[in-house]
Amino acid sequence: MPASSSRLSSYRLPAFALALLLLLGVGIASVWGVSSLRTSNEWIGHTYEVINRIEVAERAIRSTEANARAYRLTGHPEFRSQYLIATHQVDTAHEALASAIRDNPAQHARVKRMREAAQAHLVELRRLFDLQELQGAEAARQATNSTLTLRQWNEFDTAASEMRREELRLLDQRKARSDRSATLLSAIVVLGMLLSGGLMISLMVSVTRENKRARRLELEARGAAHEMALSMAQVGELSKQRHELARYSGLLQSCQTLDEIVQLSIDTIRRLVPDASGRFYLIRASQNFHDSVASFGDHLISSPDSLMPADCWALRRGQAHMVSGEEARQLSCAHLDTGTPAPGITSLCLPLSAQGTSIGLLHVSAATDAMDHGSAVDELIGQLAEQLGLAIANLQLRETLRTQSLRDPLTGLFNRRYLEESLARELQRCERRNLPLSVLMLDVDHFKRFNDTHGHAAGDALLGQVGRQIQAGVRAEDIACRYGGEEFTVVLPELDAAGALVRAEQIRRAVEIATVQHLGQQLGPVTMSIGISTFPGDGLTPEVLLQLADATLYRAKAEGRNRVLHVSYDD
Ligand code: GH3
Ligand code: MG
Ligand code: MG
Repeated sequence: MPASSSRLSSYRLPAFALALLLLLGVGIASVWGVSSLRTSNEWIGHTYEVINRIEVAERAIRSTEANARAYRLTGHPEFRSQYLIATHQVDTAHEALASAIRDNPAQHARVKRMREAAQAHLVELRRLFDLQELQGAEAARQATNSTLTLRQWNEFDTAASEMRREELRLLDQRKARSDRSATLLSAIVVLGMLLSGGLMISLMVSVTRENKRARRLELEARGAAHEMALSMAQVGELSKQRHELARYSGLLQSCQTLDEIVQLSIDTIRRLVPDASGRFYLIRASQNFHDSVASFGDHLISSPDSLMPADCWALRRGQAHMVSGEEARQLSCAHLDTGTPAPGITSLCLPLSAQGTSIGLLHVSAATDAMDHGSAVDELIGQLAEQLGLAIANLQLRETLRTQSLRDPLTGLFNRRYLEESLARELQRCERRNLPLSVLMLDVDHFKRFNDTHGHAAGDALLGQVGRQIQAGVRAEDIACRYGGEEFTVVLPELDAAGALVRAEQIRRAVEIATVQHLGQQLGPVTMSIGISTFPGDGLTPEVLLQLADATLYRAKAEGRNRVLHVSYDD
């Protein structure tokens, strides 16, 4: 492009100079041609003038002759006076003719001959006139010498004819020269105008093209600058958003609870798309429903508290589902409240999953300008949803592991390790607040016999049943544990011995009347013996309280089983 531009501009200057030279040449040629034409025309006019003067001279001599002859024949005085005037005109006409051709020696010689012949004839006419005046017309008529007159006339006519021929020849020559000059002038003017006009037009075309090109280049340059500024801004925005996502990943690792994870996710989504709104769903254990666990923003498109997987395109297909504008009419998820399509709003459903297992759904809606198909934001929220799914799955896994490590799998109650940790903690808490705490130690009576009679599996089923009954008989803040074998422990914070006795009695009674179904057989019921110890009256440490409750339990066994016993050492 620059090469062509420089080629154009290097050609333009000489072309412009040439066009100017041509115009100058045409101007000079025009001036020269016009002056040459004028000269030619002057010469042509001069020739006509000479021819005219020859004719005047001829007319003058013929008029003299005619008037002289008429006077001789008629004697009329009018002819006499006309003759005298004409005589004078002959000389004047020859004088004028001579002056017109004085620059042409040959013609001048012919005028001289004409003039001599005319003078000679005038002398003869004067002789006859004088004779007529003196002797009368008859004498003059008789004295007429026709031969002489004829000779004089021949002499005059010959000179006049030669002169006219010469003038006519000169006239042709001058006309031809004038024509040539006119043709040449026309050719020069036409050619010069054509060439300079052509050059001017080509220059104009080239300049116009150059201007257009310059305008286009300027527009392109402006567009490129604008695009660059835009892409710089986009790169800046994208790097900010990627930074947000990296920060999210880092913080997600340290989240301990679902609430923390959800709150962090909401903050990050709002940083990526400031006016976004949405809802988090987690799959329920039944697998049939997704329940809302949190929502954020002013809901541009609302979604209910719980939804069926069949109501969501994203959950059905296992991939992100985004709709906006007119698409919303046909492809909007059934769980979204889009009775009327929300103009300018984009809705995005993202399944939350980990290792191919669906665990929930994230729904986000925002202005289409802020979150569109193929935009970086759309992709970034997709990545956020992936990490969110993994984080929730990790949390759930950790929770399961923790539960497994703290719970007894057969009865679902806490295990002995948890009992030791929580008894010490609860004891400290009650001690600080001057509150009592009771410990129940429970043991199934004659369980060995039950095992022996119905088998170990039946014994397990019974233990499961007893575990559920113990759990059902205590408050949420109480800690029910399987101490080992068919022995259980319950920690009752803030409950004194009297309260503990009531609670223990309720459990004992519930077990006493319950039966268990095993392999189509109804087994049981069994009984339980329960020993109680209470803080602070019976002991101050977990170990003492447990030993005392155990000792009381054995005492209850010894006293006949199927009973609750508390031995007050205050007494
Ligand atoms: P007592 O009334 O004196 O407590 O009599 P008992 O038979 O219950 O006494 P003992 O403590 O001697 O017997 C406990 C039995 O419980 C022994 C063991 O076979 C049985 N056992 C312990 N753990 C389990 C278990 O997890 N499953 C089953 N089926 N039996 C268990
Ligand atoms: Mg027992
Ligand atoms: Mg036992």
